[in-house]
Amino acid sequence: MHILIIEDEEQLCRSIAEGLRIDGYEADVCFDGAEGFSLCTTENYDLILLDLNLPGMDGLEILRQFRRQNSNTPVLILSARDQIQDKVDGLDLGANDYLTKPFHFEELEARIRSLTRRRFIQEDVCLKWENLVFDTRTREAAVNGTPLSLTRKESSLLEYFLLHQNRVISPEEMIEHLWDGSVNSFSNSIRVHISALRKKLKAALGTDPIQNKIGQGYIWEIH
Ligand code: CA
Repeated sequence: MHILIIEDEEQLCRSIAEGLRIDGYEADVCFDGAEGFSLCTTENYDLILLDLNLPGMDGLEILRQFRRQNSNTPVLILSARDQIQDKVDGLDLGANDYLTKPFHFEELEARIRSLTRRRFIQEDVCLKWENLVFDTRTREAAVNGTPLSLTRKESSLLEYFLLHQNRVISPEEMIEHLWDGSVNSFSNSIRVHISALRKKLKAALGTDPIQNKIGQGYIWEIH
């Protein structure tokens, strides 16, 4: 999942991004309101973390204009403004949640899990397919209780496939959601990671649920 953080306190912004990357998310950082608005309207993020006091463009104005074009992408406001009116305004403008700074990173993680799961109507922290289970909290996969050893990127791919079973996923979509802003062109990277994941799944499950649809992308097929 690909998260944009618009926050002008650079150190805070970078440390949130670092923590989220450790959790297996892709995270882009942006320290300016106008630039943040431009990013969130041109890229397809799964979640946006938005500060309110920003240079360039105020957070509430970003939210107001963003919601005119996009009503789906969850927005979580991170703000030092703890007045009730700011919270009410933010939620009225279409924010999905509000967290007052300073906050504990664990609380941010829990709210992000809740918002991204809610989007896919997942009730459980665990995603399942037959006897394969992926725990979105620990980022660990297991087959019949035996842990699968996956790299960070393989875990992200597995999570994305499990959330979108039985639908063809194009390489472009994977780049948007699973690679951060530093990847600009198509590379062999996706193919290499998917191929490694498929080998591990086949060894553990005895079957390969991921199929390659030539010219379209990949699909996790429900048998
Ligand atoms: Ca700020």
